[in-house]
Amino acid sequence: MPTRYDLDRDALAELLAGEPRFRVDQLWDGLHRRLAAPDEMTDLPRALRARLAEELPPALTPIAESSSQGGTTVKWLFACGDDARIETVLMHYPDRTTVCVSTQAGCAMGCGFCATGQAGFDRHLTTGEIVEQVVRAARRARDDGRRLANVVFMGMGEPLANYDRVWPAVRRIHGDIGLSARHLTLSTVGVVPGIRRLAGEDLPVNLAVSLHAADDRLRNELVPLNRRYPLSVLMSACADYLRAKGRRLSFEWALIDGTNDRESDARRLADLCRSLPLPAHVNLIPLNPTPGYPTRGTPRAGVRRFQEWLRAHGVNATVRRNRGTDIDAACGQLAARVEAPRHRAGRHARPVAVSGRAR
Ligand code: SF4
Repeated sequence: MPTRYDLDRDALAELLAGEPRFRVDQLWDGLHRRLAAPDEMTDLPRALRARLAEELPPALTPIAESSSQGGTTVKWLFACGDDARIETVLMHYPDRTTVCVSTQAGCAMGCGFCATGQAGFDRHLTTGEIVEQVVRAARRARDDGRRLANVVFMGMGEPLANYDRVWPAVRRIHGDIGLSARHLTLSTVGVVPGIRRLAGEDLPVNLAVSLHAADDRLRNELVPLNRRYPLSVLMSACADYLRAKGRRLSFEWALIDGTNDRESDARRLADLCRSLPLPAHVNLIPLNPTPGYPTRGTPRAGVRRFQEWLRAHGVNATVRRNRGTDIDAACGQLAARVEAPRHRAGRHARPVAVSGRAR
């Protein structure tokens, strides 16, 4: 059975065949603008509300919710209809509210430092499952007296490996929920065909590339996809993307103690940033602890030193604040861990910048 955000407007019109035509707009507006469930839409006749509540069930069932830092970070564990587990993280900052959504249950990319990658791949999420995460977060933000302004696709999964469901979700979040494309950020560990497709789209979303290493030898180790799309190929796709979109590109860099935090790493990274038609911005994320990866994140002083090296080479870099480390909601930690017996979900724990994932 389709869930309430899986149907597009035409499919909803079919579902409402026999009803006055304006009911489609009412229902669509209720779901997306007012963030309402069918049984809350008091502008619909009672009998229709009851039918829609039955025929348009939610995709996600909350299993657990944890919050930290005085409620400014909230992480949900959701069960999907087939019991796949995913996680979503809402973050209130002084000046903005951001949700980090999952695009797959688990991830097939196998980055060793990432809780999601350690758990393996379960399945792609549907467009409805992705949109519903945003709707639920926007409702919570509204209840908290805030407005959801940013969506980062940096939760569990590799968004560009699920392009055919993720992009319709982006369009819905932009066109129907009403968030600016400039406040939507898609991340990737380097799925080059996806970057090339994105370059041909009309919405100017942000692109964040989880780089983590600036030479192929190290990147092959940290990000296995690099063996398929080595840095020269990835950089060429990034350059073409920038030429086509003129949008800012960011590189995410999870700092791993003694692994990718040396001056030579900063120099190589700076070379890559400066090789692009528009300079890339770097987001530095001290690697979060995960059970399956033995090394640790770069200590704070090392993070600052790395940032200074980049600056000295003319590259702007921001240190991401880790939000939610105590509830495993920080970059690289999403692992859908509450008893998922058959499923091995994880979040795009890429050293996802939760304020963007490991990006
Ligand atoms: S870092 Fe991202 S792409 Fe790599 S395994 Fe984790 S979720 Fe997948």
